[in-house]
Amino acid sequence: MKEINKVCVLGAGLMGNGIAQVCAQAGMQVTMRDIEQRFIDAGMAAIQKNLSRGVKKGALSRGEMETILARVKPTLDLKEAVADADCVVEVVVELMPVKKQVYTELEQYASPDCYFFTNTSGLSITEMAATTKRPDRFIGTHFFNPVQVMTLLEIVTGFETTEETVAVAKAWGERLGKECIIVRESPAFVVNRILCTMINEAFFVLSEGHSSAAEIDKGMKLGCNQPIGPLALADLIGNDTLLRILEGLNKELGDKYRPAPYLVKLVRAGRLGRKSGKGVYDYSEP
Ligand code: NAD
Repeated sequence: MKEINKVCVLGAGLMGNGIAQVCAQAGMQVTMRDIEQRFIDAGMAAIQKNLSRGVKKGALSRGEMETILARVKPTLDLKEAVADADCVVEVVVELMPVKKQVYTELEQYASPDCYFFTNTSGLSITEMAATTKRPDRFIGTHFFNPVQVMTLLEIVTGFETTEETVAVAKAWGERLGKECIIVRESPAFVVNRILCTMINEAFFVLSEGHSSAAEIDKGMKLGCNQPIGPLALADLIGNDTLLRILEGLNKELGDKYRPAPYLVKLVRAGRLGRKSGKGVYDYSEP
């Protein structure tokens, strides 16, 4: 079975730089590619900031930090990024046409035995894989945010994914210190289907006026031992992202997954959560 030692990460955003960091920390050589220099610079700065925090806490030495950083090579050049890579981890925006375009370009440069891993939160692995010449070597490797902290790796098989590809992805995930679950492709996979449905229900309860947002969150934290209430979590995930996942579930699996109108309204109002300063809660006050 092939061991992954050289990783090409496509996308230096929130998840991409986290994945690049954990790969480098596990001793792998990493190229991190984005489409504009400012995204790459921001991605490298995020890795540096994160590792510096580890140095301050005494979790690693300054020398170790430099070694890890030296393993990550940022680039704008796709051909250079993918040369010699054992696998590509695609972490670009959650839009199927963009992802398909990326895979079409990738096929020109990636070696035939390179594995394609996608970090999609819920788009069809099978549909993306079908745009490549290697649907057997194509698999979902769904990390959770923040990548450096969350231990789960949800490995998602597409229609043509082979057992060998599953084994390669699982061995890679375990080297990154992750616990893996293997699931078959379905809308939003396993974790987000259950999680987003629960959050959606919290929005229905809120809009029906049965309780306040703070009381709903307190109830779910203390009554169900959740570390964060569902509405605060929606603000953390981003209400637009949450709505997109629910719309996908609704389209593929029916009315049970209809997004709560209150959630739709928040997104229309631009109340996207922490990232926009307001969501269910107001973050503009310190
Ligand atoms: P993000 O917007 O922070 O980063 C995406 C990056 O991809 C951007 O920097 C963008 O410039 C770049 N990009 C766009 N086209 C590209 C291309 N052709 N080549 C290289 N880079 C390109 O988004 P994110 O939150 O990191 O999400 C990325 C993926 O991870 C999505 O599929 C998302 O669904 C998934 N995901 C996100 C989370 C989360 O909590 N944010 C959790 C799990 C999975």
